[in-house]
Amino acid sequence: MTLRGRKFRLYPTAEQAVFLERHFGCTRKVYNHFLEVREKTYKETGKSPSTLECKRRLVEFKEQFPFLKEMNSQSLQRSVLDLGKAYDRFFTKLGKYPRFKSKKNGHQSFSVPQNFRLTGNKLFIPKLKTGIPMVQHRPLGGPSKSLTISKTPSGKYFVSVLCEAEGKPHKIVDKVVGLDGGIKTLLKSSDGKHTPNPRFMKHARKSLARAQRSLSRKRKDGKNRAKAKLRVARLHEHVANQRRDYLHKTSRRVVDDNQVICLEDLFVAGMMRNHCLGAALADTGLGELKRQVLYKASDAGRRVVELSRWYASSKTCSVCKCVNHSLTLSDRTWTCANCGVLHDRDDNAAQNLKQEGIAGLRENLKVSKPSKRLPLSFKGRRTGAALSSPARETASTQHTRAEQAGSLKQEAIRVSSNVWGSECPAFQCREDVTEGNKRGLLGPPLIERGVLSWNGKK
Ligand SMILES: [Zn+2]
Repeated sequence: MTLRGRKFRLYPTAEQAVFLERHFGCTRKVYNHFLEVREKTYKETGKSPSTLECKRRLVEFKEQFPFLKEMNSQSLQRSVLDLGKAYDRFFTKLGKYPRFKSKKNGHQSFSVPQNFRLTGNKLFIPKLKTGIPMVQHRPLGGPSKSLTISKTPSGKYFVSVLCEAEGKPHKIVDKVVGLDGGIKTLLKSSDGKHTPNPRFMKHARKSLARAQRSLSRKRKDGKNRAKAKLRVARLHEHVANQRRDYLHKTSRRVVDDNQVICLEDLFVAGMMRNHCLGAALADTGLGELKRQVLYKASDAGRRVVELSRWYASSKTCSVCKCVNHSLTLSDRTWTCANCGVLHDRDDNAAQNLKQEGIAGLRENLKVSKPSKRLPLSFKGRRTGAALSSPARETASTQHTRAEQAGSLKQEAIRVSSNVWGSECPAFQCREDVTEGNKRGLLGPPLIERGVLSWNGKK
């Protein structure tokens, strides 16, 4: 069972909007108060009160400010819990030190953990007698757990419902693909398909600059400033919407068309620190694309092979595996010194990712190590280092590598010539697969069996 968020647009009436605004304010007040308490106590005593202690003190705090009692008590408690989570993330080095929430921040939200009701076109939450009009454009897909109501800087209200949704495995297709992400072309796949990079932010930059310039000229706290701010927020939102839509369509196509998807495990956040590429990379949304491919593949019963980011996919010849160490980022094509084949940089990388993905898949399946984090994906082997420095390899590994290279090529041909499905009867028994999933085994064993069976190992 996986948890999925479903986001719907809310259209509150004027009174309801006031109620929501008050809710945002009260949860923010509770959050800021306890952040201050924790900071102060820590400075005085060297120890900060626990989340449980804060929750206890919330009762006194509500006595002090009676208007808090008009709000949903669980939303306020949730605010305290959120602060505890922020501290936990800080201590485990997953996040920065929690900051005070500001009223001026365009994005506001509060959670409703229980006692809400969705009727399709209305949302009922505690302490609000009337239902908030809502457009539920898709079914939830499972029982709902909790919800969060949010407001965007452009003034739109949304509700995100967390629900337990079960993915439906798609019909099996006999295709393996290697995908190379980039800035020039968003995705180049090993089957020759290219997904262009639309560069939404780059195209909106001119109008954004104009709107921001106009905002900077407006008098502080004036009405016109608020209007100009809204204009900037709307432009940003439009770019984000365009990008999200494009990425969803791209990831959906990738997952629908392929059974096994071989990707590079790119460290996008680290690459963005490069000031020459940062902005262009942020405009691509590669990190988000990968996230979407991973969860959609997991729902559809596809397998994702993540290959090490240190594997030199562009520098390695996909035909003879010879490594070209002198390749720079500006070289879009290169000729292999060993076999003389002319390579397009990204097409070659995609081919390599596909071949290494198949080999890595087989190797991982032999030891059958299920990944706990993402049931359907796992890290490929660190092939790059091994391939480029054969001196470090022992005679036996060299032997198996040579063997592997031969069978790998054969396998790639077999995969592309539509052998799967007909040769392996295991592909047809879907019940078996879902049973395996329920027991928490590694993903659907479809491919596992496919690879093992035609390999003559099982
Ligand atoms: Zn070559």
